[in-house]
Amino acid sequence: MSNVKEFSVEEKLSALLNLQKIESKMDEIQILKGELPIEVSDLEDEIQGLHARETRIEEEVNGIQEFIEQKKNLIKDAQALIKKYEKQSQNVKNNREFEAVNKEVELQTLEVKLAEKHIKDANEEIGEKARLLENAKKAIATKEGNLKHKKGELEKIINETEKEEKEFSNLSNAAREHVEPRLLASYDRIRKNYRNGLSVVPIVRDACGGCFNAIPPQRQSEIRQRKKIIVCENCGRILVDEELNDSVQVKS
Ligand SMILES: [Zn+2]
Repeated sequence: MSNVKEFSVEEKLSALLNLQKIESKMDEIQILKGELPIEVSDLEDEIQGLHARETRIEEEVNGIQEFIEQKKNLIKDAQALIKKYEKQSQNVKNNREFEAVNKEVELQTLEVKLAEKHIKDANEEIGEKARLLENAKKAIATKEGNLKHKKGELEKIINETEKEEKEFSNLSNAAREHVEPRLLASYDRIRKNYRNGLSVVPIVRDACGGCFNAIPPQRQSEIRQRKKIIVCENCGRILVDEELNDSVQVKS
């Protein structure tokens, strides 16, 4: 089948714009989906980290409690010794023996005091750990709520976009049929070069809508005339006037 009809530049630009707008919609879906999986996996990592912190604090608390038990036993032993020495002091034979026993009592009394101080400090430390544990638990609850929400959102987007994506993909294939191969090749080449996927851009406030490089008035009027395809001298994107840009709308 021969191509009888020769398209005007305006028709070519409109066809390109149509394709660009359809494929930009497809890009939007990818961006929408592209960030949620990362957010979900980030949250999962954070929750895992918080659970590890929780475990670590609990282990530390166990360690402190063991330490307290040791100190309590130490106090019991010291008190038993004190009792024993006090009994002995009633049966001492001389002053020297009395002094020696007294010294032991003093020593054990000091041991008890020191152990009591250690227990008090340790209990304070447990209180501090309990607060940290509480914070970790709260953070986990918040993040888990967040995660549930994001997962739901992602699932919803995937469900919703499956259909939309298919539709845009069909629209894009159809739109490609209306663009001549040489132009389509430049369109694809430019599109691939830029992260925002924009190949065809309008004039925005006297500048290229892609790179914001100023466009001289003479060139702007040439673009408005739609007599030839004009690319941005700075970024190489295909330029269209605002009116043409606004006239092409993609449904859905
Ligand atoms: Zn440009």
